[in-house]
Amino acid sequence: MKITGITTYVLAADLGASAFGWSQRVGSTRQSAICVVETDAGIQGYGEAFYFGGPSTIVAQLIDLALGPLIIGSDPLDSSVLWDRLYNWTRDQGQKGLTISAISAVDIALWDIKGKALGLPVHKLLGGAYRSRAKAYATGLYEPQGSPNTVHALVQEAQGYKEQGFQGMKLKIGYDPRVDLGYVRAIRDAIGDDVALMVDANHAYNAPEAIRLARELEPYDLAWFEEPVPPEDIDGYVELRAATSIPIAGGECEYTRFGFRELIARRAVDYLQPDLCATGGFTEMARIVAMASAANLPVIPHVWGTNIGLAASLQLFAALPHFPDRRFPTEPWFEYDRSTNPLRDGVTVETFTLEDGYLAIPTRPGLGVTLDLDFVTRHGV
Ligand SMILES: [Mg+2]
Repeated sequence: MKITGITTYVLAADLGASAFGWSQRVGSTRQSAICVVETDAGIQGYGEAFYFGGPSTIVAQLIDLALGPLIIGSDPLDSSVLWDRLYNWTRDQGQKGLTISAISAVDIALWDIKGKALGLPVHKLLGGAYRSRAKAYATGLYEPQGSPNTVHALVQEAQGYKEQGFQGMKLKIGYDPRVDLGYVRAIRDAIGDDVALMVDANHAYNAPEAIRLARELEPYDLAWFEEPVPPEDIDGYVELRAATSIPIAGGECEYTRFGFRELIARRAVDYLQPDLCATGGFTEMARIVAMASAANLPVIPHVWGTNIGLAASLQLFAALPHFPDRRFPTEPWFEYDRSTNPLRDGVTVETFTLEDGYLAIPTRPGLGVTLDLDFVTRHGV
């Protein structure tokens, strides 16, 4: 089998009145870069790149101009060989960030092809399923725009997730420690003690601020405190982790096994959160998971984007081992983004539905989804 071409699609949607804020800014659009790898066998593979900082066109151009020409004519089943080729060609200026997001999309598409060629879901190729469904937590509870009472709106949203059957949800913090504390208090009060609550500061604080806040948040039984400090501040992570009983999570802004090597070696976090669509795709994620397992450090993937990224992440999630294994192991949490995204569901023919707090993991070949070209073209930039 040979790769005959790569097509990229850039999708964009205006959020209008549904724009939402977090510690860094207000998001008023959603965008996505999706790639389709074509083969001479007629099999297509789909991938998605994670980029939220600007136009997804940039990632698509990286795929179109820099990466695609390097793999056309190659066998898509040689995914590790091709990953190394893409990384090495872009290595000098591309070790982190957008280049790796672009490589991730291509790699995910190659694994989709591999699965379709063999008639197996990707999780079988990764070693099999530890689970057939994913315990989902809702990512949402952003700052609603134009709401006269933010706390009230957040409480209503949180109660909605609980009614939908979510056993966990994640709140955005990092506005100001006083504001954060008020939000956490109100939401914990509204959802009760039986629903897990995570908080995510999107690297808003320095270590002393994060330590002071963490100590105030300790009575609220938080499942984790995500990205308390900037991703480059590994020492800040280590200091905070030593100073609080709240588990610390991070890694969505880290890339490849080279980036995760330091987080793991320094034991900077309690939960590693690599994003499949940013950290290098299935090929690189398998290496990160292996390194994490050697350190007995749980991997709880970051998940964002459309149903393509979601489907790929569910395949990864099925094959994620326990950290550690035991008779009654702790089930990892699957991140299910519930923030407004008009692009999320329409890109695939298949839909995902929460049942009793879980998402079923597809067992169809590859990623288990089919691109809805009509939708993709309609929302294309
Ligand atoms: Mg996050």
